[in-house]
Amino acid sequence: MSFARVGVVTGANKGIGYAIVRQLALQYPKSPLNSGPLLIYLTARDPKRGGSAVTGLTTDPALRQAKALASDGGPTSIQFHRLDIASSSSITQFAAHLAESHPDGIDFVINNAGMAMDGFDLNVVKATLACNYHGTLEATRAFLPLLKKPSGGRLVNIASSTGQLGRYSRAIQKRFQGAKSVDDITVLMDEFTAAVERGTEKADGWPSAAYATSKAGEIGMTLQIAEELKRQKNTKVLVNACCPGWVVTDMTKGKGYKTPDQGAQTPVMLAIGDIGGKSGRFWRDEGEISW
Ligand code: NDP
Repeated sequence: MSFARVGVVTGANKGIGYAIVRQLALQYPKSPLNSGPLLIYLTARDPKRGGSAVTGLTTDPALRQAKALASDGGPTSIQFHRLDIASSSSITQFAAHLAESHPDGIDFVINNAGMAMDGFDLNVVKATLACNYHGTLEATRAFLPLLKKPSGGRLVNIASSTGQLGRYSRAIQKRFQGAKSVDDITVLMDEFTAAVERGTEKADGWPSAAYATSKAGEIGMTLQIAEELKRQKNTKVLVNACCPGWVVTDMTKGKGYKTPDQGAQTPVMLAIGDIGGKSGRFWRDEGEISW
């Protein structure tokens, strides 16, 4: 079967990622990007969990009633593929699979995979940055060249409002905001790690917070990638960062004010909605917010 549109969602076996795939299938028929059959890659690091998620969606009563999926005569197909964003080889393998299977390119990537650990020490900081910052950056770099340039592919990185800059010293805020490249943001992540190792992060103007800092880096990195694209010619690819809101998932241990389906709305809008050609912005609740 050939597909008019191809999209990827990372960390989609549960929580917001799973709801994103569900909402994509429900909303695609009315999307301005609907130009025929859509293939969504539901990716997860664990094949068993990924496979169960696909089964869950193919038997989902709302999707069945809406005849959203190809198995019911609808436009959308969901396929599992393994992807661990903390593993370079896993990212490379999946990117190669996409390039080979879709030589005309893919339409959107939603980098949703992420983790939050309890406690605060150097190991927590290193593991959190490895997944949320470096893993998302590596996935972004690997998938970006596969997006359809002339027709405006979309890349959406799910960060968090905890990555807003209010909690950093004025000096560090200025360095985030004055960054000129992704490398400038990576240097900030390295400096945070070094400060935690010395035990001086508070005195140096950082919060003692691994997750929030990884998400600040993710926002900064995403905005820099969007700037890189604006300097290139012949590309209409749009790159945005967003916060899903505070969502009831395993990550929040069941706390929050949004359901996963509500948390999925902003990322889905940024991937397949009319966003007026905007790129390099930070979004929440289906609107732009400041970093
Ligand atoms: P969950 O913990 O419910 O889900 C996280 C998903 O990411 C799981 O599928 C998990 O897979 C996957 N994942 C973790 N590490 C990796 C990895 N190395 N490679 C691939 N997949 C991985 O969290 P949420 O659904 O709440 O969070 C989704 C995103 O939204 C995250 O980026 C999070 O930071 C962000 N976010 C969430 C908020 C909330 O209120 N819930 C608020 C702001 C941002 P597995 O099951 O194998 O662990």
